[in-house]
Amino acid sequence: MQDKLYLTSNSLTCVAKILECYHSENERYAVRLDKTLFHPQGGGQPCDKGTLNGHEVLHVAQNRDGHVLHYLHVRLPLGPVELQVDRVHRLQHARLHTAGHMIGHLIERTGWQAVKAHHWRGESRVVFLNPKNALPPFLDDLSDRCAELIQLAQPISISFRDDKRQVAIGTLGHYPCGGTHVENTSELNGLKIIRIKNKKDELSVHYEILD
Ligand SMILES: [Zn+2]
Repeated sequence: MQDKLYLTSNSLTCVAKILECYHSENERYAVRLDKTLFHPQGGGQPCDKGTLNGHEVLHVAQNRDGHVLHYLHVRLPLGPVELQVDRVHRLQHARLHTAGHMIGHLIERTGWQAVKAHHWRGESRVVFLNPKNALPPFLDDLSDRCAELIQLAQPISISFRDDKRQVAIGTLGHYPCGGTHVENTSELNGLKIIRIKNKKDELSVHYEILD
């Protein structure tokens, strides 16, 4: 079974072994490794960028068998390979993704239920349903709560229960999640709640993080 190191480690570089490399669609080659630091696209999060032996990784996706595949323009020989995950890109996604969790926890406290999240740059949002007839939050209040948590530098912790990965922010609560996250909430500095839309008891909170 492939070791998905990104679930337990924030390292950006390691040596792995290429087990398979085959021609795929669109003049791309799919590379399967014994272990990987690359987070595949999924769970509302884009994939990591980076290189294998210096060659650009164009896309990373999980196949039906649960293996993470790395797509490149070149065919690589089987055997050892050096992985390098792009730090800037990883951090950008981890910040947007972690901010989505934080917003989720804060709004769920008031009775809403988070049902969807999309953490792509320029279109980040969390969507909630309203099973308890809760009042919609005010944008300024939510912004203030987020700012307090950022100031408090609450730690993000990963744990496994019955093989399920859980991601917690301080004592706010946890979500089951396979994504990448920052280490504490101070890294979410620059978070801006752009707007809150409430349409027929479906609440969407749109946000961005200024660099
Ligand atoms: Zn997450």
